[in-house]
Amino acid sequence: MQVFDVVGNMHLHTTASDGVGTHDEVAAAAARAGLDFIIYTDHNTWVDGVSGWYRDEESGRSVLRLMGQEINDQNREPECNHLLCHFISGDLNGAAANPQKLIDAVAGRGGLTFLAHPIERPGFGAAEQTYPWVNWEVTDFTGIELWNAMSDVKWRLRSVPRGLLGAYLPNWVLYQPFPEMLAKWDELLAAGQKVVAIGGSDAHAWPITWKIFTHVIYPYEYLFKAVNTHVLLPEPLSQNVAEAQQQLYRALKLGHCYVSNDLVAAPNGLLFTGRSGQQTALMGDSLRLEGKAALRVASPLRGKIKLLRNGEVIASATGASLEVEVAQPGVYRAEIYRWFWGATRGWVYTNPIYVEH
Ligand SMILES: [Zn+2]
Ligand SMILES: [Zn+2]
Repeated sequence: MQVFDVVGNMHLHTTASDGVGTHDEVAAAAARAGLDFIIYTDHNTWVDGVSGWYRDEESGRSVLRLMGQEINDQNREPECNHLLCHFISGDLNGAAANPQKLIDAVAGRGGLTFLAHPIERPGFGAAEQTYPWVNWEVTDFTGIELWNAMSDVKWRLRSVPRGLLGAYLPNWVLYQPFPEMLAKWDELLAAGQKVVAIGGSDAHAWPITWKIFTHVIYPYEYLFKAVNTHVLLPEPLSQNVAEAQQQLYRALKLGHCYVSNDLVAAPNGLLFTGRSGQQTALMGDSLRLEGKAALRVASPLRGKIKLLRNGEVIASATGASLEVEVAQPGVYRAEIYRWFWGATRGWVYTNPIYVEH
């Protein structure tokens, strides 16, 4: 199956809300980090006229930038239920008060919605406050942010010694999505809905100050080399902005994407595919069982590959591929782990193939 792996970050902040970088500075960092696209998601803020290709002269690379929003009800205390709203064409902050109405409003404007950092763990000091998703009765959202890098960082640096270690050894910090987040995803999938997983940086580039130390420990460029969303396209990303936006929209809506920590290794070339009879499926697709189905994970690099059915590991292998014949309907997805900076870390989380009768 011929696909084009396009990598981007879909959760980040600029000076338009509480980030430190301007739109251009963030785009330049994304280009230098090797990203193909970014979506700005400032808090409850919309800025016109920023979308389009941005060329960074220093690296000679270009990045497609799109405008989105991270919306929550700012009158709610604490301010939970952060919703990433992508592929919209204008400000939807007016619908913030009701999460379901907001989800419906985004869909009505032809956009996609992802629950941001739906499960968080408390950090240290000012980072003790968490902003999880709480209104789980909502329906018809596109998916979830399975791995939010800053949520992971916040919890890993939950004491002063850990904070100092993390400041000087940032590669040590990111591990994997929280297990309870993976379990929640499996629970949503088991309830029969298609839920597309993405990964985001939530980059703000805040300086961390402790006594005499001030340090931007997670600058934009660093985070854009970490937890990203890889989107699989049938053709290369168009140079035409409207066409490129449509390509990304279609693939993300279908779940033709996976989450990766690119610091561990570049995953480009990774595929999770299925075959049954004459049909083929890519991650995100449904596959109707004709007798049996063959599911295949093919990785550009060796790792510990796990294949899960309805949240349970049904096969695993250490290597660059895993092929399994299945005869049961179910939601099948793959995870790959690799050794990096002294630990086995989550590297790749694919969207599921939905095997149906
Ligand atoms: Zn948020
Ligand atoms: Zn955010």
